[in-house]
Amino acid sequence: MEKNSKKTFYITTPIYYVNDVPHIGHAYTTIIADTLARFKKLCGNEVFFLTGTDEHGQKIEKSAAEKGLSPIELADRVVMRFKNLWQSLNISYDNFIRTTAPRHEAGVQKIFQKLQEKGDIYKGTYSGYYCVSCENFLSDDVPLEEGGYKICADCEKQAGEVAEECYFFKLSSNQEKLLDFYSKNPEFVRPKTRMNEVTSFVKQGLKDLSITRTTVKWGVKVPGDPKHTIYVWFDALHNYLTGIGYDWDMELFNKFWPADVHLVGKDILRFHAIFWPAFLMAAGFPLPETVYGHGWWMKDGTKISKSRGNVLDPDIILETFGSDPLRYFLLREVPIGLDGNFSHEGFLHRVNSDLANDLGNLVQRTLTMIVNYFNGRIPDPDEEKEADKKLREDFQDIKKRAYQHYEEYNLNRALEEIWVYINTVNKYLADNEPWLMAKDEHKRGALARVLFQAASALRAITTLIFPVMPESSEKIWSYLGEKSALTQIDFNSLKFEDYQPVNLIQKPAPLFPRVDLKEFLKEESGKKETGQKEKKMSEVTYEEFRKMDFRVGKILEAEKVEGTKKLIKMKIDIGEEVRQMISGIADTYSPEDLIEKKVVVIINLKPASFGGSVRKLCCWLL
Ligand SMILES: [Zn+2]
Repeated sequence: MEKNSKKTFYITTPIYYVNDVPHIGHAYTTIIADTLARFKKLCGNEVFFLTGTDEHGQKIEKSAAEKGLSPIELADRVVMRFKNLWQSLNISYDNFIRTTAPRHEAGVQKIFQKLQEKGDIYKGTYSGYYCVSCENFLSDDVPLEEGGYKICADCEKQAGEVAEECYFFKLSSNQEKLLDFYSKNPEFVRPKTRMNEVTSFVKQGLKDLSITRTTVKWGVKVPGDPKHTIYVWFDALHNYLTGIGYDWDMELFNKFWPADVHLVGKDILRFHAIFWPAFLMAAGFPLPETVYGHGWWMKDGTKISKSRGNVLDPDIILETFGSDPLRYFLLREVPIGLDGNFSHEGFLHRVNSDLANDLGNLVQRTLTMIVNYFNGRIPDPDEEKEADKKLREDFQDIKKRAYQHYEEYNLNRALEEIWVYINTVNKYLADNEPWLMAKDEHKRGALARVLFQAASALRAITTLIFPVMPESSEKIWSYLGEKSALTQIDFNSLKFEDYQPVNLIQKPAPLFPRVDLKEFLKEESGKKETGQKEKKMSEVTYEEFRKMDFRVGKILEAEKVEGTKKLIKMKIDIGEEVRQMISGIADTYSPEDLIEKKVVVIINLKPASFGGSVRKLCCWLL
């Protein structure tokens, strides 16, 4: 309501951490944001699209030191990688904010000071378990391990205890205000299931939040107390204000704030749906309209992330396919609220069937026939027939539905609808068989009519897919002989019958290459080997590792298993009992060599099917 009257649209991605390498997960969030930004622009909104990088914190300090760099040198390098990726993916951001920019730092300090003056920030002592990797204090209910540390639930790494003087934000006094705000704005967190998670978390009670560290040097200093560094999350969240002019262009800021949507991965929803509105309320800023928590891209069932070592490098796909197939696949394959599983098979299937077959063929056939049969300019078509009328009316219908889906961020549904229409047009061509009409001199008018309809449909489709596939759309647009830029079109007033037969059609180049899966995988693994070192063995998580029960045992008896080449059966004394175990080591050791030797044994390895109570042995001779 208010959005329509102000006609501005402010969308953000999270700012990406420069300790990471850009991967499909980052690409995904940014592609969603870019698509929505382009769609809103087509609908006549004034759009501001913000992305950027989060460059402070202990983790960056540490990894820079490991690489022999200063933190800012490390940041500069990674920022370039992000910017290059956004360029290859056709990301049309309006500002790229870096949290090391002086005007961001000044803005954060100004807000900190304001909250301090109002009493929302106070000084105290904090002790707790801190995950360096996630830059996050663990909650009190995480159990303490025997070694005196806790395990971070997000990254499964150890978190040590930290006690220090620090500044607190009075989060506790915002609990009721937040719950009140959520109940009045049920669309604040989307999808709805995530809103429920957030509400029940807040209802459990909020504690004050420690927002500074003295052990970290790399960050924004507390104004007037520079031995304290502002907690990286407090620092980072305010990019949404400083990136749009807060404290340096208040006219711009007032024009676009509050944000229409903060797009975030579901793992950082809590920061955006609880802390962020609390900071904003305390400082007296209006609150953003929506925080949208999207799902993760998984590979082989686990989240894609650097710490899990299963990063998918988008550059390899981009080199072969360009940006549009990747943009299309990521948005088409799953609803943005859910998790998706990335597979090369799935990707190539989409590219070959939806893009090369359905859309690519439509473009190719339609335009090539117009060039071949009419030298690129369609003459006066015959009068419209029933099937033509239906093609036109169907479009208005699809457009309405696509609009609704884009508005509701159901991007996969929008594409699904558009593809139904693409296939309607393909069927229209198949039914009318213009290639046969072309052989009959008396059917020139009918041929002109059918091709004119197909070209009109194609022009209309191009506008609908533009937000997702800007590069291909602009190509089709120019093949259609359109003089003005596609971005000048108004989505809402777009009509099927806007197409002008006076345009000179150009012969199209193939838009989407057909790629064979085997060829592609061969090429990809070749690039991986030459490009970067990939670990052959999959990594074991700490959680998996700590389940293993290691014991030192002594081998009492050993004998070869009859009828096998490699297996040796042993009796091993592991202290409280003697275990029978089997190991495939007969090609290295003879049984008599093993007696009296000490071995390290994993005693809780799942029994393998060797019959009886004999366990397969995993051991190392000492
Ligand atoms: Zn962690």
